[in-house]
Amino acid sequence: MPGRPRRRVSRQIRVGHVPVGGDAPVVVQSMTNTDTRHVAATVSQIQRLVQAGCEIVRVAVPNAEAVEALGQIKKHVTVPIIADIHFDYRLALGALRAGADGLRINPGNIGEPDKVRRVAQEARDRGVPLRIGVNSGSVERDLLAKYGGPTAEAMVESAQRHMDFVADCGLTDFKVSLKSSDVLTTVEAYRQLARCSDVPLHVGVTEAGPIVLGAVKSALGIGLLLAEGIGDTIRVSVTADPEEELPIAYAILRSLGLRDRGVDVISCPTCGRTEWKLMDVVQDVERRLRHIATPIKVAVMGCAVNGPGEAREADVGIAGGRGQGILFKKGQLVEKVPEERVLERLLQEVQAMTQESLDG
Ligand code: SF4
Repeated sequence: MPGRPRRRVSRQIRVGHVPVGGDAPVVVQSMTNTDTRHVAATVSQIQRLVQAGCEIVRVAVPNAEAVEALGQIKKHVTVPIIADIHFDYRLALGALRAGADGLRINPGNIGEPDKVRRVAQEARDRGVPLRIGVNSGSVERDLLAKYGGPTAEAMVESAQRHMDFVADCGLTDFKVSLKSSDVLTTVEAYRQLARCSDVPLHVGVTEAGPIVLGAVKSALGIGLLLAEGIGDTIRVSVTADPEEELPIAYAILRSLGLRDRGVDVISCPTCGRTEWKLMDVVQDVERRLRHIATPIKVAVMGCAVNGPGEAREADVGIAGGRGQGILFKKGQLVEKVPEERVLERLLQEVQAMTQESLDG
């Protein structure tokens, strides 16, 4: 694909059965927002996330009951689970014993070096990787003073300290995230760390905001870095149901030619020439085809001006008109469809294409 970014060469680690870094595709992550102690609700959300394309799921483990629940959750899912731990190293040790496939810790808030060492050594002995998560809000005081605030340089130096410490404990399987709610600081920090280390990088923009703002900030922050080849695994953050993150993540990756998963819906913005309920159809198509992993391009266009051209280019497309649409399949005009049947026909065609691709 023209212009496809050349990826930075990072070393590879494995989170459960999923490789991250090296020549592995950029991996998509998300995080549950159920109370982890509610095993059934958490398992059900994990299954929905996986259906939407999530390849590694992070779960908050804020207390001993959540550690206990983690062990139960692991029995019901096959996707790798990362335990997200803050402050208490005993929870990290408990999560490892409960079968976590990865740990996300911020060594800065775990506290004394001996506690971090115990976690790193236990992870090493179990072959479980860490994510060292550095946030702009948790950069050490001396670095804040040295750099005059939580700058990109301060975040990178903080990450390097933690990386060196963990490596001294004998653990080399780790990845790093550097997150600030300021997009440009985040981007700059990743660039700097990428220049001086081959550590695999988990890329995201933290506290990105409600869905539209969060999608824009994530697309910019993650997209800028991926376009420069930086990033081995990504998480889009939005204040919404975590399932909403996955279509955004795959849209970013698809736009850069890095992953080809799911239905790509191409639609026109509508204008005074639109004479049918295109917006309703587009929303329904996007919602009802989200779970499909097969890469299929669907065009839904408003009229006969640009519509047929785009619709012809897609795997399946509709160019709307007054009271009816023209259905194209692989560039060929197939039939005229009454407006009220457009959605149903599009869904039928996509399902048939999905089946064809499954049948090989
Ligand atoms: Fe308007 Fe037709 Fe273009 Fe849609 S495809 S924006 S309806 S001119």
